[in-house]
Amino acid sequence: MSVDIPSILAEHFAIAKFTITSLEGYESVNYKVTTSSKTFVLKVYTSDVETRHSLQAENKILHALNKMEEYQFPEVIRAKGGDEIVESKGKLYRLLSYIEGELLATCKIDTPLLCNFGRFLGEMNLSLQELKNPTIKGIETVWDLRHFAKSKDLISYIPNAKDRSLVRYFFLQYEENIRPVYYTLRSSIIHNDANDYNVLVQSNCIKGIIDFGDMCFTWLINELAIALTYVMMHSNSPLEVAYSVVSSYNKKIPLERKELQILYYLIAARLCTSVCNSAYNKHKKQDDSYITISEKGAWNLLKKWLTINPLKAEEVFLEACGVTGKIHDTKGRVALDRKKYLAKNLSLSYTKPIEMYRSAFQYMYSKQGETYLDAYNNIMLVGHSHPDVVAAAAQTYARLNTNTRYLYPELTEYSKKLLAKFDPKLNRIFFVNSGSAATDLAIRIAKYYTKRNKIVGLEHGYHGNTALGISISHYKYLKDPFLSSTTDTIALPLPGTIVEQEIPQSDIGPYYAKKAIATLESDRGDMAAFIAEPIVGCGGQVPLPEGYLKNLYPFIRQAGGICISDEVQVGFGRLGSSFWGYEQYDVVPDMVILGKPIGNGHPIGAVVTTTEVAEAFENGPEFFSSFGGNPISCAVGIAVLETIEKEGLQEHAHDVGCFLKNELQALQTKIPEIADVRGLGLFLGIEICHKDGRPNTDLANNLKNGLKKNYILTSTDGPYDNVIKIKPPLSFTKANAQVLVDTLYDLLRSLTKG
Ligand code: PMP
Repeated sequence: MSVDIPSILAEHFAIAKFTITSLEGYESVNYKVTTSSKTFVLKVYTSDVETRHSLQAENKILHALNKMEEYQFPEVIRAKGGDEIVESKGKLYRLLSYIEGELLATCKIDTPLLCNFGRFLGEMNLSLQELKNPTIKGIETVWDLRHFAKSKDLISYIPNAKDRSLVRYFFLQYEENIRPVYYTLRSSIIHNDANDYNVLVQSNCIKGIIDFGDMCFTWLINELAIALTYVMMHSNSPLEVAYSVVSSYNKKIPLERKELQILYYLIAARLCTSVCNSAYNKHKKQDDSYITISEKGAWNLLKKWLTINPLKAEEVFLEACGVTGKIHDTKGRVALDRKKYLAKNLSLSYTKPIEMYRSAFQYMYSKQGETYLDAYNNIMLVGHSHPDVVAAAAQTYARLNTNTRYLYPELTEYSKKLLAKFDPKLNRIFFVNSGSAATDLAIRIAKYYTKRNKIVGLEHGYHGNTALGISISHYKYLKDPFLSSTTDTIALPLPGTIVEQEIPQSDIGPYYAKKAIATLESDRGDMAAFIAEPIVGCGGQVPLPEGYLKNLYPFIRQAGGICISDEVQVGFGRLGSSFWGYEQYDVVPDMVILGKPIGNGHPIGAVVTTTEVAEAFENGPEFFSSFGGNPISCAVGIAVLETIEKEGLQEHAHDVGCFLKNELQALQTKIPEIADVRGLGLFLGIEICHKDGRPNTDLANNLKNGLKKNYILTSTDGPYDNVIKIKPPLSFTKANAQVLVDTLYDLLRSLTKG
């Protein structure tokens, strides 16, 4: 004990005989002082004017609250001279009554206790609402959710990059959802820390609350947000817990709709404040277990919170306050309007389409309150609404949006960063706005460079929706009699799909390359380019066999054509063991087209090629794209690359992808309808067939819709539409993969029995 507690107690409080133990504390050093008749808490603070004023204010509030008969709050014990605060040798001393009872944190929590907690908070807030105190009004603490932004700088102390992104996501949501109502929320003095270590219980009822050190004048709803945060932390059904507390609070103080609308985000904000401050304190080596006591629980709840649709939470909060009914039902109208204004060949996923509302990392939230696990959207590479990507777009949009006819650093910085990911031979880049536009430009450049016309592709290949894109996308132009009769494309058989003779696995690639070369021999003179995806997505996630490109590329080049790798679906680390798909096959193309994940949903497309090809094209007419390479797109592109690096997403895709593929292959040994599990990293396909090997389109479709019913998004593809495609955002975890496998297994068992 650095201070002389016995003499303080004797001299100022006439307490001579006592036992003393240390208590946990945050801003003060606390002791439990037990005499033969009473127990007290002695709080010791460093003396300064501000602290003294705060303590005086706090004491006034405690006096007022102690008028409430049903509950107990610490009572301020006056010193012999009548002072409530004693000063000695640079310290301030305050003696409070000790409240007996069990901590809410260690109680078995049931619904009556939760309801009682809500009622207690409501009644305490009713009393506090009547109090005015200029000192408390002036308090600015990081724990006040109005000042959430104060914790933002602490994010950097969180060691794991993915965790930092999660926290930044909720900072972003605070700005988006709370900032607009910032000045419209009602305010009051609140306790501001009704965490379960401060709340006391006796006989399954709330007895009182201690530790008023975080008290401030802020939004009233923050009291409930903070209380809910801690009481939900150890529950498997946080919204059920919230329901009980909110409904009984609302009976005391009716909550406003706008308060309930932001409650979800305030809870997230409190969790983020907690984990940021824990990280900071750990960094400062103040690894005081009291400060970081709730760290693990806070992280767990924050991660769980992400799986809860904010609309679902809002609906539960509203229901708890007696507002029921279909609050967000706009689906019917949206579906009708879509029929009215849009073409039928704009397809919708699933038998019963989903009306989407928001999304976060690997989760998508429907307007009806459901949360879907996205196992399908490869565009959202680093995760839906990734805060760094959103920030890059928003900040650049707010500053400068122009085109490549001006100089700005984003364009060159991004070009340099992106090209560094390629073989040094691929060192020039053209920016457009979609994968289709990239294909279109690539083919245009190829034709310009070779002065030839014919394009070679693969059967079932898809490369884009422009006239040119469709004319080289075999399975699309086949459906258009005019296009299929006029196209100048040669579609080679998808290697490995039809093997006419028994050949060893390692010979399949060279065998198909040989067949392709034989087909192309007669067209040598007019061949501009060969284009293929490294794993053919629309063909049903079919990886090109080893040795195919290695044998075919030299022939194409020798015949005067150029080799194009369509990396629109597989690029940017998704395959795990390589950043680009072509790297799997030990080849370097002459041109690469990029799209989808490049901008994490922001429309960017690009063509990467060699100096030689680019220089030939430079001699042609000006190339200009109004949007291609604009500062916003470039800033977004940089953010995507940086996020892949920071969060180690390529390695993550490898780890989770291997785990998932192994699990699916294990499923294959149990379920004969799984004919094949193929692909790499987080770009996988599950081929569904009848037991006799015929494609089973119906079962694949039922599985896709069944997964959707179980809130997992996948799709089907391939010539028979019998391949389930899995290509999730790379924030997809092993736990997510396990849920997918387990659900698929249950569905397969129920759909294939008999
Ligand atoms: N290439 C491939 C392999 C694709 O999958 C797609 C889109 N599905 C495209 C090109 C065209 O990209 P976008 O839709 O961005 O125009």
